[in-house]
Amino acid sequence: MADILTPSNDHIAVAGAGLLGRLVAWQLLTDGHAVTLYDAGDLDVPPAAAWTAAGMVAPLCETAISERCVYDMGRFALTQWPRWLEALDASSLWQQNGSLMVAHPQDLGELTQFRRDLDHALGGGSPCRTLDAPEIQCLEPDLATGFRQGLFLPDEAHLDNRALLTRLLDEIRALGGECRAHSPVETFPGEVVTAEGRRHFDLVIDCRGTGARPRHPSLRGVRGETLHVQTAEIQLSRPVRLMHPRYQLYVVPKPAHRFVIGATQIESEDRSPMSLQSSLELGSALYTLSPAFAEARILEQGVNLRPAFLDNLPHVTHQEGLITANGLFRHGYLLAPAVVCHLLAGIRGHGDRPFADTLAARPPQENAA
Ligand SMILES: Cc1cc2nc3c(=O)[nH]c(=O)nc-3n(C[C@H](O)[C@H](O)[C@H](O)COP(=O)(O)OP(=O)(O)OC[C@H]3O[C@@H](n4cnc5c(N)ncnc54)[C@H](O)[C@@H]3O)c2cc1C
Repeated sequence: MADILTPSNDHIAVAGAGLLGRLVAWQLLTDGHAVTLYDAGDLDVPPAAAWTAAGMVAPLCETAISERCVYDMGRFALTQWPRWLEALDASSLWQQNGSLMVAHPQDLGELTQFRRDLDHALGGGSPCRTLDAPEIQCLEPDLATGFRQGLFLPDEAHLDNRALLTRLLDEIRALGGECRAHSPVETFPGEVVTAEGRRHFDLVIDCRGTGARPRHPSLRGVRGETLHVQTAEIQLSRPVRLMHPRYQLYVVPKPAHRFVIGATQIESEDRSPMSLQSSLELGSALYTLSPAFAEARILEQGVNLRPAFLDNLPHVTHQEGLITANGLFRHGYLLAPAVVCHLLAGIRGHGDRPFADTLAARPPQENAA
């Protein structure tokens, strides 16, 4: 597919101010382009999946249930995020202490199976390490004491994702980007259509996540739910996953004694609030991870849709005047660096676009327009 070379003073519209949209708008502004960023919702507390997300950058955890390319792009993220965060003067938002997986004694088979799947996906021994009970306690002293075995996945990281999205917006504004909240758009090559009418741009970049359904009929939303709780009774230094035959609960520490808890991946586009059953399951699994969570205050229940194509992989399409980037599924923070660098390499005219084999392939069931 041809690159879209644009002179550095072109006026570019970015549709969607979620994770991809903010990263792309920021990078284009630093290149000297004029950028107008549109979002259908609020910009400070956006309706984006990126705001609901837990912010884990976990290539090993995800590879056991994904394609090998997810691991490769995820490894790339582990080097690219620190660079971007340094450029944003926000290195403190990045924590790279690995991840811990534990299972109750009756579910230890889940850990064994996970390790087998991971070794298979990586085509050999994985870098994860089996831990015994004292090693688990040494790593995370506040966890319940009944975990006899765990897995430590080195290098994995997590981000303070909400602070990152806010920081990106501040930077976009500081660099002169035009930010249009509550402005749903339709995208076309070289123009966007809003309630106010058509507006011409040299290039349009569509990063609308599940809002891009009219453009990508094969795109679907996959429901995810999170609980935000707060307690000073427990400290965790890294994301912890509790393996269970029916779900994997994850707990991700955030600043100010907050924790984001999630587990669900439901094939549904229902955005209604969390069900009582999900809330009870998340709460009781959390309590078994550490009884210290019993007095935690529930601050928020989040529900959002992950944008996914049929192959659950991201895709970037280029045509004259329009680029689309979508399908990050449950891997937004893990795969955004690869997707954004691939997309920008096309605009900047760099010879090699990273991860072109995966990302430049058209989404399944979508023929060339
Ligand atoms: C519960 C949950 C937990 C998650 N946890 C993680 C995690 O730990 N790690 C990880 O890597 N990923 C995680 N993800 C996935 C990640 O959030 C998504 O992959 C990522 O946000 C997708 O980025 P995006 O920019 O494509 O879409 P989004 O972040 O959803 O942004 C799309 C934006 O487009 C806007 N928009 C929609 N329609 C229009 C329109 N017509 N006009 C203008 N704007 C429009 C929306 O308002 C939104 O702001 C999680 C997702 C969920 C739901």
